[in-house]
Amino acid sequence: MTSGPGGGRRPRDTGESTAADDARIRRFAEVWSRAVHPVAATTLTRAEFEARLAPLARRLSDALGSQPFDTAPAYEVGAALVGAQCTEPEALPAILGAIDSHLVSHCLPGDRMAVPLAEDEARARCTRLQHALAAGFVRELRKRERDQHEAISRAAEAARTAAEKALHASEAKFQAVFEGAVVGVGICGLDGEILVVNDAMARMFGGMDFFRPGRNVNEFVHPDDAPGVHEIYRELVTGRRDHFRIEKPHYRDDGSVLWTNLTVTLLRDSTGAPQYQLTLAEDITEQRLLRERLRYEATHDELTGLPNRTLFLERLDKVLAGEADAERFGVCYLDLDGFKSVNDSLGHIAGDRLLKAVAERLRDCAAAPGELLARVGGDEFLALVTGPSAQQDATELARRMLDALAEPVRVDGRELLVRASIGVVDGPAGELSRAEVLRSADITMYRAKAAGGNRFELADADSNAQVIARHSLTNGLPAALERGEFFIEYQPLVRLADGTVRGAEALVRWLHPKHGVLGPDQFIPLAEDTGLIVPLGRWVLEQAARQARDWRDADAGAGVGDQLRVNVNLSPCQLSHPSLVSDTVAVLEDAGLCPSALCLEVTENDLIDVDEDALRPLRQLADLGVDIALDDFGTGYSNLSYLRRLPVSTLKLDRSFTRGMQRAPIDPVDVKIVEGIVSLAHTLDLAVTVEGVETAVQAECLRGLGCDTAQGWYYARPGPPERLHTLALADAS
Ligand code: C2E
Ligand code: CA
Ligand code: CA
Repeated sequence: MTSGPGGGRRPRDTGESTAADDARIRRFAEVWSRAVHPVAATTLTRAEFEARLAPLARRLSDALGSQPFDTAPAYEVGAALVGAQCTEPEALPAILGAIDSHLVSHCLPGDRMAVPLAEDEARARCTRLQHALAAGFVRELRKRERDQHEAISRAAEAARTAAEKALHASEAKFQAVFEGAVVGVGICGLDGEILVVNDAMARMFGGMDFFRPGRNVNEFVHPDDAPGVHEIYRELVTGRRDHFRIEKPHYRDDGSVLWTNLTVTLLRDSTGAPQYQLTLAEDITEQRLLRERLRYEATHDELTGLPNRTLFLERLDKVLAGEADAERFGVCYLDLDGFKSVNDSLGHIAGDRLLKAVAERLRDCAAAPGELLARVGGDEFLALVTGPSAQQDATELARRMLDALAEPVRVDGRELLVRASIGVVDGPAGELSRAEVLRSADITMYRAKAAGGNRFELADADSNAQVIARHSLTNGLPAALERGEFFIEYQPLVRLADGTVRGAEALVRWLHPKHGVLGPDQFIPLAEDTGLIVPLGRWVLEQAARQARDWRDADAGAGVGDQLRVNVNLSPCQLSHPSLVSDTVAVLEDAGLCPSALCLEVTENDLIDVDEDALRPLRQLADLGVDIALDDFGTGYSNLSYLRRLPVSTLKLDRSFTRGMQRAPIDPVDVKIVEGIVSLAHTLDLAVTVEGVETAVQAECLRGLGCDTAQGWYYARPGPPERLHTLALADAS
């Protein structure tokens, strides 16, 4: 072997290789490529592959006939075949097989050789060339594999160092964040053991000592923990949840409370298995205190410190919605009796002091768990009790509250007697609405007041229904006046001496669109409560005055002597209304009626205890010539001597006095009483009218006793104004 791998020397390489030579070598290349192409990992077509093999075939052919024989070119051809992607495992046997079968027969360049090779020699050379080719092939293949490994590990190494750098950077970043964070950061094991916390966390909890070794988050239980927080935590550490966020209180070592906003995140390892918990904590104690203070202020009464209406209703709503684990509830609605007069007479400061003292006493009554006492208005308190025996508990609470107020309260050196009326409502949770409960409590409390106060009443459906009906009437009242739903009936007043009609009392009715005709007893009290009585009363006065003028005009035509008069009832609100006198004068003038044709009826009770100032309007009207009658006389407790002070000209004796005279035998005591009153009245120059005359016996008896005028069903029931006129005409004829 004389020449290096650079190339073999071609014997007599004079460039005149014959065309026949070329053709034979080309044919070998073709056969060779057909054998190898199917097992080569090449993307070249068979023809391209053949073109690639052609120079290699020539080199093998040259090497076969080289003188001296040299195998080095075959070694190089082996390496070149690896370069041509003949790297599959089956490739080398295919290469060698084709050479073995076809090289000698196709490529022996006998005509170009000085000494032609013997057959044996040629075969031996072919075998050696195959060995050399195989060696070159394997060597090249190994080199290639080695190169590839190297590239991969170099890349891996590069990748590793890059990753390390990045990791380091992120660790450093983490460390910086961890240490410098203003939020508390802590890492715990899945068992809750605290592994590491940052300074911020330590500061929140009052120092690193708090996180002494072995500390476990499972110890951080606080009574104010949100319900269900434990379950959420279990879900996290068992991998069923990746994070959660809660507001949680903690006790510090000194017992003070720290409120935190916690975000806990589950950290998993590279296989996804839960590994640690990462906790971020923000100190929200201040915010929380502020929030609590604002909430306290929004839900408590400033004066007494008791819960206010808002808080009470929140709790009541929960109970009524069945969210408070209470089957039954009871509500006490307490309103002080006569508190307004304390306020008016002693002033607001004393009033406030009294309320504070009352609140103090009531607070002690409703201090059991499940009981709530709230101040819901000036002198109104609401108490709530819950539980299976709520009905009994509420009644007992009402009793306790009344007892607590029995002792006088000392305010500014005065002993003040405090009384209260309480309405008690109870029921099962989940049935009544808030509005129903409060309305029922309100109605029941007023029932307690109406029964004299200083007591409690229990709600009952019947009285509630009555009041609710009243309530709906009250709502319809104002519109009723505008819509003209009121009308007036007139009941004659008859002179007992001769049985002639002297006049009539105007009695108002309401033709209600739903309930039909309603009597005054059903709506006058409501009109008084709502203030509607003033316009309604004025309307009645106008109508009655016009009616009296129409009667007069008709009488004048018919030649009836005495003018018919009209009686109109006045409510206390009208009495104290500043425009009573001017309104009445205007009405009379508008109707063209003289004052003596009008009699205003005022009940005895409305005039008891009335001072001279309050009497002035009536006196003015009386001075103008308007008659004033004292209605329902005998039902009040007036001192008879005070009648002299009043500007009245007539007593209307209440029906109760004459009831006993309806049929014979008449009770002599009744007779004596009426006789006494009549003589007293006449002594004082007052006329006497008797009400409720239903029988002839009564009428006769009363006439005998000297009564002046009578009114009652015996003569006529209240009716339309025309009827009165026919009655009067009948008298005249
Ligand atoms: P009052 O002034 O005592 O009116 C007499 C009441 O007795 C009337 O009832 C009348 O219908 C009724 N009455 C008359 N005769 C008899 C009788 O023989 N037997 C019986 N059992 N009752 C008789 P009414 O109309 O229901 O009026 C009730 C009250 O309503 C009146 O009592 C009066 O105080 C008030 N009222 C009526 N109209 C007005 C009004 O326009 N303004 C004001 N403020 N009150 C009125
Ligand atoms: Ca009357
Ligand atoms: Ca009366």
